[in-house]
Amino acid sequence: MSELSHKDWIGKASAIRFRDKAFIDGKFVAARSGRTFASVNPATGETLAEVASCGEEDIDLAVSSARRAFQSGAWSRAKPAHRKEVLLRLAQLLRENLHELALLESLDMGKLVKDAATIDVPGSAAIFQWYAEAIDKVYDEVAPTGSGDLVLVRREPLGVIGAVVPWNFPLDMATWKCAPALAAGNSVVLKPAEQSPFSALRLAELAMEAGLPAGVLNVVPGLGETAGQALGRHMEVDCLAFTGSTAVGKLFLQYSGQSNMKQVWLETGGKSPNLVFADCGNLDAAADMAAFGIFFNQGEVCSANSRLLVQRSVKDAMVEKLVQRAAATQPGDPLDPASKMGAMVDARHAANVMRFVEAGKKTARLVTGGEQVTVNGRGSFIQPTIFDEVSPSDIIARDEIFGPVLSVIAFDDEEEAISIANDSVYGLAASLWTDSLSRAHRIAERLHAGTVSVNTVDALSPMTPFGGFKQSGFGRDLSLHSLDKYTALKTTWIKY
Ligand code: NDP
Repeated sequence: MSELSHKDWIGKASAIRFRDKAFIDGKFVAARSGRTFASVNPATGETLAEVASCGEEDIDLAVSSARRAFQSGAWSRAKPAHRKEVLLRLAQLLRENLHELALLESLDMGKLVKDAATIDVPGSAAIFQWYAEAIDKVYDEVAPTGSGDLVLVRREPLGVIGAVVPWNFPLDMATWKCAPALAAGNSVVLKPAEQSPFSALRLAELAMEAGLPAGVLNVVPGLGETAGQALGRHMEVDCLAFTGSTAVGKLFLQYSGQSNMKQVWLETGGKSPNLVFADCGNLDAAADMAAFGIFFNQGEVCSANSRLLVQRSVKDAMVEKLVQRAAATQPGDPLDPASKMGAMVDARHAANVMRFVEAGKKTARLVTGGEQVTVNGRGSFIQPTIFDEVSPSDIIARDEIFGPVLSVIAFDDEEEAISIANDSVYGLAASLWTDSLSRAHRIAERLHAGTVSVNTVDALSPMTPFGGFKQSGFGRDLSLHSLDKYTALKTTWIKY
């Protein structure tokens, strides 16, 4: 828990400086076209800054810089122990600039500054530290060919990585891509979402302060259709790592096929089920975590537990507990440490979420919430919302809403629960609550999800792979497995 008061945060916010230019070749530069876009605080509607809007020309410059840096070998061929030192320094700088980075996140996309200061920024620092510490402990292989041949199988960095990331955890999503890609020796061109460019720009500046050579990490703010597309289609980008919507993920596959067949790794949408069985001994804990699983970060979480599947005999008790928790999670000023939920990322997204809420009101029973509200007369906020008696075929049970909207669905037995849980185009995460060890294993084995959390929700750590099945994407962020995305295996065969 950060120790700063509401007044402290307001004071710090009034003094904050926004980096509003692109970061290319180690310098802040305007877009070649001179174009900018407005970055707006969704909690107040105020424009924070006009930010460089990168186009094809800027992407070319950033990719050339990244390529030059890669070919120079200053980073790509540096000893892993050196890369470790620099990335450890970066982790430390993130910690030293915690308040500033937390504020950038909160002002830019509406999340609670308290969460950014206790979860997002420390999480990013921990991930840089984890890859820094790992990279000089990853050994290569010698193939068992026998005498007369020595066959080395080594991992090499790929070259230039394009990273296109969303606005829900701006610094964390940038880190999930950059930390392993940089640790492995690549250069990166990072495009943050237009709603949330500031922490990525500050990250690049801090990375240079930590000792990353110029050109190894470039940040190109801009619109998806221009800057994002230009990266996706660039002939000199070797790999494109993306987190965002399934629809845009599919576009990146097309860009790749129509350009240089660059590797594409996608972490996309989700509609994660949370299964609560009647033999769960602690329904209060299940209710606490179910509420956290859908209301944390305003529900703007790809793995949000947006479908609550509850065994019929405990369903009403569970809904009652959730209503109490929703009442205690009303939106408030994101800079106030006492607030429980922040603003939606922008007015357009709030309107999208409200379209789902209105659809839900027609097909299910609204038990709490269901309204868009303002805080201090401003901003785009949505009440924590729960629908009961949802049918698995309802739109609110099928589409990713990306807001604080929970659909409760009753089931009678294990088979039915598994069948409803798996009846989705997505397969990112799932949770289940039971006191039976056998049931936990039986069901975890059959759920189509990249992560199954038992008696908790949305468990993750730098040590464990994160990513999806089906249309939630492929490839894994976090853990040593993510190094597979940013390296290629090279076989060197020596006869002697
Ligand atoms: P998008 O998928 O549109 O955005 C993610 C990233 O892709 C952003 O950097 C965006 O840039 C970029 N992008 C957008 N369009 C293109 C394009 N045509 N070519 C290349 N890059 C592009 O997500 P949204 O922000 O629009 O959110 C929409 C929905 O996506 C949400 O409601 C949610 O369902 C899902 N989503 C999932 C996330 C996850 O963590 N899995 C995160 C965010 C959203 P720009 O923002 O500048 O347009």
